[in-house]
Amino acid sequence: MSSSKIFLITGVSSGFGRALAQEALAAGHVVVGTVRNEQARREFEALAPAKAVGRLLDVTDFTTIDGVVAELEANVGPVDVLVNNAGYGHEGVLEESPLDDMRKQFDVNVFGAVAMMKATLPYMRRRRRGHILNITSMGGFITLPGIAYYCGSKFALEGISEVLAKEVKPFGIAVTAVAPGSFRTDWAGRSMVRSPRSIADYDALFDPIRKAREEKSGNQLGDPIKAARAMLAAIASDTPPVHLLLGSDALELVRNKLSALGEEFKAWETLTRSTDG
Ligand code: NAP
Repeated sequence: MSSSKIFLITGVSSGFGRALAQEALAAGHVVVGTVRNEQARREFEALAPAKAVGRLLDVTDFTTIDGVVAELEANVGPVDVLVNNAGYGHEGVLEESPLDDMRKQFDVNVFGAVAMMKATLPYMRRRRRGHILNITSMGGFITLPGIAYYCGSKFALEGISEVLAKEVKPFGIAVTAVAPGSFRTDWAGRSMVRSPRSIADYDALFDPIRKAREEKSGNQLGDPIKAARAMLAAIASDTPPVHLLLGSDALELVRNKLSALGEEFKAWETLTRSTDG
């Protein structure tokens, strides 16, 4: 077994965060997990007394994040692995969805994750080691009508992760953007924020997508425990990937997207090249 590490995982009340916390605890690691209420904190700590350490944190409470990380570093120990998992999906046609819904989506999925990284990096950089995992999505590569704000946030986190990986590699810090396909979590259930419908023009396109997502929730292809084990394997690697897809659905859809993108670039190559000089 690899030596015991200290993990800091945001959003361990359910889904990927809970599964990863459980698997990391079972592998002998210490897990600090963030939750948003006292009951969830008690439930989390009951998983493994003294090894599962709960902290209350909403990742959009940006001004409290530095203090939470400083307290952990002082009282629990050096954070070896930060996992930015907390996030949710906004569903709604762009024209129907208030701009404020986009701000909230980016506050949690992007700004929250970046704030966590900025709070943790000074310690990791000083130690010249550490691993940051950002849970993005196959929606950080592929798109579908009705989730523009969500895909936008995950594309953003993919890009930010890739840049950060280049910036901190010289310090021995790895960054992995983990892009899952569809998994059986609370993502499309209790956690999803759905904008109300208002423009009938979009019914034909969007209604079947919303209905299919509702029907599929709970029966998705992916098993979060297997995702957790895959993430632990990436963490244990001496050369972890910058981008890691999880699930055969993600692999197929993202591969198709990349090849379609290549085809489109090729079809328009002459026009593209015409602007040089
Ligand atoms: P989930 O079961 O709904 O878990 C989401 C977790 O994030 C919960 O612990 C939730 O806490 C927490 N959270 C949400 N907003 C937060 C905030 N403002 N501050 C702190 N914690 C917050 O869904 P999940 O699928 O495991 O989601 C985890 C990550 O995976 C998300 O980033 C999601 O976008 C991504 N993802 C999921 C799928 C999928 O198919 N499931 C696919 C690709 C990517 P509460 O319990 O307090 O709400």
